[in-house]
Amino acid sequence: MIHSVLTIDDIASKNTRPFVDYLLEKKIPAIMFAWGKRVEENYENALYAVKNGIIVGNHSYSHPFFSKLTMEEAIEEIEKNEAILDKLYQDAGVPRVYRPFRFPYGDKGGENKDALQKYFREHGFHKVKDDQIPYAVWKEMGLDKDIDTFWTYDFAEYMIRPDSGVTMDDILKRTTQVNPDLGLSLLSDKNGSHLIIIHAHDETEELVPQYYRTLIDLLLDNGFVFDEPQFYLPSENQ
Ligand SMILES: [Zn+2]
Repeated sequence: MIHSVLTIDDIASKNTRPFVDYLLEKKIPAIMFAWGKRVEENYENALYAVKNGIIVGNHSYSHPFFSKLTMEEAIEEIEKNEAILDKLYQDAGVPRVYRPFRFPYGDKGGENKDALQKYFREHGFHKVKDDQIPYAVWKEMGLDKDIDTFWTYDFAEYMIRPDSGVTMDDILKRTTQVNPDLGLSLLSDKNGSHLIIIHAHDETEELVPQYYRTLIDLLLDNGFVFDEPQFYLPSENQ
């Protein structure tokens, strides 16, 4: 079994709701990272996720490259979304216990990186427990110390677009190709532990209906088990 944590980026979308239904059907826990702007645009679907036990984390308000922002702008992007997510949980009648954050594009803020990590530490953001991740590169990159939620595998199915030439076959093929950083492919990794990303994009849904079902079913068929994500407050551990 490959114990993994599933994360779903860029909610809320139209397909957030059927995506949640699929997760409920398969009893798969997940963190969905939301941009505030999209929550405003698809509020009912974001509410549906929270009401159904999905942990909704902060993925900024407008999904910018954080290395292009001043520290002040970066904090505004984070806090504007925090306020939206607080209200979302309140409207759902669900206590908001965990506050994970994921940077758009994995861009940790360039010269503001250390200041942003300090900000997360001092403002109650939760780190997703990652000491089960066995790959040397995780520590080499300092990801074991960072508060934001990075990943070990991104399906990159968002690349399926009318003009990209990338198809579902290409995305499936990538799961058997060796990742040079890890030294193995996703599906050949029999003792691994992953933090996986899929995106909730309506553009992908249009081209490949229920693509997430195909991708997650593939993992289930290959012995992946999706664990309830665990969180801690880094400030309590240091
Ligand atoms: Zn994103």
